[in-house]
Amino acid sequence: MWLENHTPVLFQGYNRGMSTVIVFSPAIEHTKRDHPEGSHRLADLLPFLDMQKVLADLRPLPPRLASLTDLRRVHTEGLIEHVRRVAERGGGLLDHGDTYATTASFDLARLAVGGCLTAVDAIMRGQATNGFALVRPPGHHAESSTISGFCLFNNVAAAARYAQAEYGVERVLIVDFDVHHGNGTQDIFFQDESVLFVSTHLFMPRMFYPGTGGVNEIGIGSGRGFTLNVPLLPYVGDEGYGRLFRDVVWPKAKAFDPQLILVSAGFDAHWQDPLAMAGLSLRGYAQLVRTLVEMANGLCHGRILFVLEGGYQVDALSYGILNTIYALLGRDMWQDPLGPMPQPETDVTDLLVSLRERHFI
Ligand SMILES: [Zn+2]
Repeated sequence: MWLENHTPVLFQGYNRGMSTVIVFSPAIEHTKRDHPEGSHRLADLLPFLDMQKVLADLRPLPPRLASLTDLRRVHTEGLIEHVRRVAERGGGLLDHGDTYATTASFDLARLAVGGCLTAVDAIMRGQATNGFALVRPPGHHAESSTISGFCLFNNVAAAARYAQAEYGVERVLIVDFDVHHGNGTQDIFFQDESVLFVSTHLFMPRMFYPGTGGVNEIGIGSGRGFTLNVPLLPYVGDEGYGRLFRDVVWPKAKAFDPQLILVSAGFDAHWQDPLAMAGLSLRGYAQLVRTLVEMANGLCHGRILFVLEGGYQVDALSYGILNTIYALLGRDMWQDPLGPMPQPETDVTDLLVSLRERHFI
């Protein structure tokens, strides 16, 4: 039993109130001219957070390099070697799409994974209640043996496996609210009942990347029922997302009873994001992250780690991160200088009905 083995360490610090760890790994040398997933995304983030007066309340920890063992828990040797070789020969494309590596990318992608593991250590040892791994490159499209969608190694999946291997965590909930389906994370845990994977994403096969994540993809074998895909039409906004989280994600999570929650936090479902056409506002995002933090407080002693994925409108990304930090710190506030989506929302009633039927909610 993991709780018995780790109780003395796990509960250190619980009486000291909320404590939030932040790991920052901006991967400045993993960048490509005119590419949306570049180092410009996080270039001004720390001064912004400092100006907003939250940095001083966070516990910063340096990221570490993930080991090959850490990577092998979620990826094949072939994938790991591929990244290493492309970086070693000076960089280039890693897939047939637009996923690139520079000479520094093998180490920087390991640092992104290692940053998540550092945060998991702090949370599982009770040195922090929750945290945010502000890392690049993102990870949720990286499958066990296939690279795509700007992702090299699957940060959130490696963090889940690490928590299981190092701390004996039996049930990990991964919630992915990036606007793109977390096909990589789904692939890694599709047959696994110890990880519940929930993804909300825009779903338009052949029109919107990656095209997977339909309601019928629910896991196979012993993992059947442990993948919950919430495929959305364009322009679902704050109200629709709110209903889906309240009426589907929350009850599904509660029934699973996680011991740790990891979040693939992509901010490209914001209505101003240039790569997508979902309808969340910053206020809507703030409500989602508050729901998730409440979920962690109610279900697993507050243990929740947000891991950065996409988000390509830099203001939406920065304020989205800020609002998430407010929620992690337990502050009852958010900021939304960009306002709500201008057009009417797409209704989600039919989707709700279909998800409840399929998942017996
Ligand atoms: Zn995305």
